[in-house]
Amino acid sequence: MAEFWVFENRTHNYARIHRRTCCMCNDGRGMHTSSSGSNGHWHPTSSREEALRLAQQLGQLTINECDTCGGEAPDAALQCVT
Ligand SMILES: [Zn+2]
Repeated sequence: MAEFWVFENRTHNYARIHRRTCCMCNDGRGMHTSSSGSNGHWHPTSSREEALRLAQQLGQLTINECDTCGGEAPDAALQCVT
């Protein structure tokens, strides 16, 4: 089970780390279930450390963690403001 996902955007050259439960991630399906392809790629990982390592290996210019689920956010239900 992938607990963390790395979202790679090859158009804007960034990689962002999400928790599985994040509404932006949605278990790697993203927010838009039908558009999982053209410029975004989801990479499953089992831990935050692995996600960071993978993100660095992708070689994107920017690596950050999701504002919604990253950093110090608790594992509790994530509030997604859209
Ligand atoms: Zn997120």
